[in-house]
Amino acid sequence: MIVLKIGGTSMGDASRMDKALDIAVDQMEAAPLMVCSAMGGVTDQIIKSYTLAESGDIDDARTVLDSIKERHYACAEDFLEGELLKSMQTDLDSTFAQFASLLKGVNLLRDCSPRSKDALLSFGERLSTRLIYARGIQRGIKTILLDARELIRTDDNFNSARPDMEATFRLVSESVRPEPGTLIITQGFIGTGNNGVTTTLGRGGSDYSASILGAALGAEEIQIWTDVNGIMTCDPRIIPQAATISDITYLEAGELAFFGAKVVHPATIQPAVSHGIPVLVKDTGAPHEKGTRIAAGAGEPGLKALSAKKGITVVSITSSRMLEAHGFLRRIFAIFDAAETPVDLVTTSEVSVSVTIDKTDALEGILEKLEALGQVTVESGQAILCMVGRDLWKDPVFPAKAFGALEHIPVRMISLGASEVNLSVVVPEQKVEEALKSLHRRFFEDQ
Ligand code: ASP
Ligand code: MG
Repeated sequence: MIVLKIGGTSMGDASRMDKALDIAVDQMEAAPLMVCSAMGGVTDQIIKSYTLAESGDIDDARTVLDSIKERHYACAEDFLEGELLKSMQTDLDSTFAQFASLLKGVNLLRDCSPRSKDALLSFGERLSTRLIYARGIQRGIKTILLDARELIRTDDNFNSARPDMEATFRLVSESVRPEPGTLIITQGFIGTGNNGVTTTLGRGGSDYSASILGAALGAEEIQIWTDVNGIMTCDPRIIPQAATISDITYLEAGELAFFGAKVVHPATIQPAVSHGIPVLVKDTGAPHEKGTRIAAGAGEPGLKALSAKKGITVVSITSSRMLEAHGFLRRIFAIFDAAETPVDLVTTSEVSVSVTIDKTDALEGILEKLEALGQVTVESGQAILCMVGRDLWKDPVFPAKAFGALEHIPVRMISLGASEVNLSVVVPEQKVEEALKSLHRRFFEDQ
C-alpha cells in the first residue's frame, strides 16, 4: 500500500481537490490511503476566529467564520450535484452551527483553552476530507472515509500532542484494510487523547500523521503532495536556476529543513525513517515530474544543496584563562542554557570561543554573565550559509572549490564535519545572496 499526503494548497478548492483525486486514481492498484490537510489557509482562519472571539470581538470572529463557510459551500457547489450536494449542504449547515456555538462559548468565557483550540482546529481537516470524499463518490471512485481520531492515539498535550505509537499501531491494524482499487481517505493533524478528547499534532502536523499511518501499515512509499516540485538545490526565489534534487538522504533533508528549506520537517518523517519507508515529495501542479525521493542511502555523496539563515548573531569570548584549563566551555554553555538560548554553530581556539545564536531576547543578561569569564564581542547582522551533502569532508577538492567560490566574501566562522553532512560558514547578512549565487554557479551550473 502507499500513503498520499495532500497538503493545504493542494486542497485549496474544488479543482485542486479533483487533481488530488486524479493522482490517487492513477495509483489505485497500489491500495492508496490519502491523508488530507484542511483547505489551504483554513487553519490560520480558525486560529484568527477563536483569537478574536476570546478577545471579545465576536462580530469579527463571525466575519472570519463566514469566509471559512463560504469557501466550503462554494467548493461543494462546484463539484457536487443532486443528492450528494444536498446532503453535503445539510452536513455543512450542522457542522458550522456546532462551530459557531463553540465560538460563542469562547466569546462568553473570554477563554480559549488548549483543549478548546484543538476542538475548533479539528474542523478544518474534518470538513476538507468530507468534501473530497463526497467528490470521490460523485466521480464513481470506490472511496472510504475514516475518522483519524479513531486511529491516532495521543497524549493530552493539546496543540502539539505526541502520538502513542503502540496504541496507534494497534488501532490502525484493527481497522484499516488497504485494498487495490479502493481509496481510503482520512484527516491529517488530528487525533484523540487519553480521555477521548480531540487533540492536534501541532502546525503542519499532517505530514506527521501520514508517516505515522504509513509506518503502521508498512507502506511501500509515502508521497507528500505539495505545491513545490520537491526539494531544490537552493531557494528558487534567490536562484532561479535552482533544480530539483532527485534523491536525498533523511539526514541531508533534515539538515536542510533546519536551515530553512521548509518542504519537510525531519521530525515529521521520523516514523517513516525508522521503518525504512521512502518519502517522495511531489508537486500537485506537475504530477509527472519525478520530485524528490528521501530515503536511506539515496543519491551520490557530495554537495546536494545550499541554504541560508539570516538574522544570526556571533558572540565571541576571549580569555587567556582558557589556555589549558578545563570546564571553560561548560561554563559558557551553561550561561546560554540558563537563558534558554539555543546555540547553533561553535568554533574554538586555545583562548577563544565563538558561537552563533538567532534568538537574542535574553542577550543582555547573557553578555553580563559572559563578561565575568573573559572579553566578549558581539556581531549582529550575520548569516549562516549551509552547504549540505554527505561525506563532504572526505572529498579533498571540495573545500578548495567552495572557498574558491567564496573568494570575495568575508567568512567569519567555519564548521565542517560536525554533522557529517554539512559545511557551514558564517558570512555578513548582506553578502549571503552573493555567496549563494557564486557557490550555486560553481557547483551546479558550471558543468
Ligand atoms: N492544517 C494544519 C496546519 O495548517 C495541518 C497541516 O496542514 O499539516 O497546520
Ligand atoms: Mg503543510
